[in-house]
Amino acid sequence: MDTVSLSGKELAAAINTDTKARAIALTEGGAAPRLVLVVANDDPASAWYVNSLRKSAERLGIACDTVDLGPDASSAAIRAELTERGADPDTDAIMLQTPLPAGIALDEVSSAIAAAKDVDGVSPLSLGLLAAGLDGFVPATAAAVVELLEYHGIPLAGRHVAVVGRSNIVGKPLAQLLLAKDATVTICHSRTADLAASTGSADIVVAAAGRIGLISGEHVRKGAMVIDVGTNEAADGTIVGDVDADSVRGKAAGLSPVPGGVGPVTTALLMRQVVTAAENSRSN
Ligand code: NAD
Repeated sequence: MDTVSLSGKELAAAINTDTKARAIALTEGGAAPRLVLVVANDDPASAWYVNSLRKSAERLGIACDTVDLGPDASSAAIRAELTERGADPDTDAIMLQTPLPAGIALDEVSSAIAAAKDVDGVSPLSLGLLAAGLDGFVPATAAAVVELLEYHGIPLAGRHVAVVGRSNIVGKPLAQLLLAKDATVTICHSRTADLAASTGSADIVVAAAGRIGLISGEHVRKGAMVIDVGTNEAADGTIVGDVDADSVRGKAAGLSPVPGGVGPVTTALLMRQVVTAAENSRSN
């Protein structure tokens, strides 16, 4: 079986075209949309991601500030910064980078992000709104998986989707979004007894565990669609996904590449949410 590559590049480009036009309209109306990235680490992967977000913002006409609190920042200092930015009328959108300083859990600080500016949907309030089926910002990676599937014309209603990973920023919100699309969802995780049995009966498998090669041909039934969310650094320094592409190719009907699949769509959706937050605040 030929395995189609479920690329995210064209979809990301289409989203970006729309976002840029909306950003220009906001700028012409008075002020460019403004995203603030709050960093409290000295992690190279985070620095790389912050840099790529800044470049994306710049290309789309979104102003982007980085506030670096350092890797030893206290929970109180992070919360104070988030609260201050939440009250700042010039800040439309806030993103808190991970990892956080040792001993600080995301929930401990993310609740200080104002819901109207929480463009990556990470605060407990945003996650609760999603679980209740109410309007709010949704974690961009989870939203990117659904948009990528829909873009490639893959139906979700009535389909069995196995999501591998149960984190608050990917697996759980993705399961909620899929349920809202009438999919039947199985959430697998590190304590799932027989992973291959759970994923092997699914029409769609989404790998979001952060484990190189976790999903191989034996985990996927013939003709399934496979979305690889993983972004892991391989021994040679390249970025690889959670799917062993060689063994899945030829068996699956479609596979999203890493890089070039979920990643560009995630960034595009984040930037779109920044513009949406700015539009909402201007209309208030
Ligand atoms: P996480 O470490 O918070 O969660 C990983 C999840 O995988 C956990 O729920 C765990 O139970 C599950 N898991 C771990 N080992 C497993 C195993 N052997 N079998 C089954 N389940 C297992 O990670 P995260 O923040 O949710 O990110 C997951 C992956 O997605 C990472 O590779 C991350 O880099 C990537 N990611 C990509 C994007 C993107 O835009 N492409 C965005 C965010 C995260």
